[in-house]
Amino acid sequence: MKAWMFAAVLGIATYSAKAQGGGGAAPSLYPVVQGKTYRFEKITEGVYYATGGGGSNDPIIVNDRDVLIVDDGSTPAAARALIEDLKLITDKPVRYVVNTHFHYDHTDGNSVFPPDVDIIAHEYARTAILTFDVLSREPYKTSQGTRVATLISSLTKQVADETDAARKAALMKQLAAAQNNLEQLKEIKPTPPNVTYASKMVLHKGQREIQLLFLGRGHTGGDTVVYLPKERIVCTGDLMETGVAYMGDAFFDEWVTTLEALKKLDFTLVLPGHGTPFSDKGHITAFQSYLTDVTKQVADLRRQGVSPEDAAQRVDLRSHQKDFPQIQRPGADLRGVRHMYEWMDERNNR
Ligand SMILES: [Zn+2]
Repeated sequence: MKAWMFAAVLGIATYSAKAQGGGGAAPSLYPVVQGKTYRFEKITEGVYYATGGGGSNDPIIVNDRDVLIVDDGSTPAAARALIEDLKLITDKPVRYVVNTHFHYDHTDGNSVFPPDVDIIAHEYARTAILTFDVLSREPYKTSQGTRVATLISSLTKQVADETDAARKAALMKQLAAAQNNLEQLKEIKPTPPNVTYASKMVLHKGQREIQLLFLGRGHTGGDTVVYLPKERIVCTGDLMETGVAYMGDAFFDEWVTTLEALKKLDFTLVLPGHGTPFSDKGHITAFQSYLTDVTKQVADLRRQGVSPEDAAQRVDLRSHQKDFPQIQRPGADLRGVRHMYEWMDERNNR
C-alpha cells in the first residue's frame, strides 16, 4: 500500500487520476517497454520493474528457463494483464511468484496461477491469508471494498446532476471504470502461498542466485526481501517503499531494527513495493527516523488520553517532508494510528 491509497480513503478526488495505473508515470532512467497495462523498466539483464497495474510494483526476474515475479497486483485481472504484457519481454513461463507480504495489493492476483507455479512467501503470509478474513479487514476493507462502492455512488450522483455534456461524458467514463473495478474485485479469491519458509530460502537458477530473506517483523509479521547478491539488487516490498508505507499491521520498533538489517545487505539498488527504484541507503535511515518519530508522537498523545482519531489528526510529521514529499500537512493514516494504540495496549499488558 502506498500513500495515495490513504488519500483515496479520505477523499475520492485523488482516485480517478491515479488508481487507473499507467497515467502520469514518472520518466524512467532505464530502457522502457510499455505494455497495455504495465510498464517494464529494464534494470539490468533479466531484471525488470513492472509498474502501472494500480497495486504493487512488481520486480520481474527472467532466468534461463523461467520467470520469477515478485508480487502480483490487487486483482486476478491485474495479474492476467501482467502475464499478458510479460510476453513483450520474454516467452519463458512464470514458474515462481513471491508474495513479499499478505496485503491484497501484493497477493490478490495469486488465484490466476496454475498449481504448478510455486507461490512463495514467509509462513506468516500464508497464515494471514488463511485465517485473517482478509476481505473483511483492513487494509482491503476501506482501500478497496468501501472505497469503490462509495466512488460509484458519488459518481452516479454527479452524472445525474451534471448538465454540461462534455463533463457528463467524462464522469460517465469514470463511472464505467469504477464499475469495471467493482467487477474485478468480485473475482478475488484470497489464495495463500503454496510454498513457505521461515528465515531464508535460496533459488539457484543457472548463474543467478535469488535469496528470499526474512529479516524480522516490520510492515507486517512476515515480510520477504528478495535479494540478488550478484546484481546487488534488493526488492523490499512494503518493508521499504519510496514513500511512507501503510502501518495498520506494523510492528513499529521491530520495523526499525529490521530496516537496520536490510541496510547491512550489500546492494546498490532498491526496487520497492511502491514508488520508484532508489539507491540511497540514507533514504532507509530517513524512514527509520520517520517510524521512530511517529511512534513517539502517538505514544505521547496516547499517554495524554487523546483518542486515536484525534491523535491521527494531531501528529505532525512535516519535519520528514524533505525525504517524503507527500507529507503536506499534519496528520497520519487513522488505520495506522489505531493499530499503534492496539500495539501499545498489548505491550503494556504483557
Ligand atoms: Zn503494498
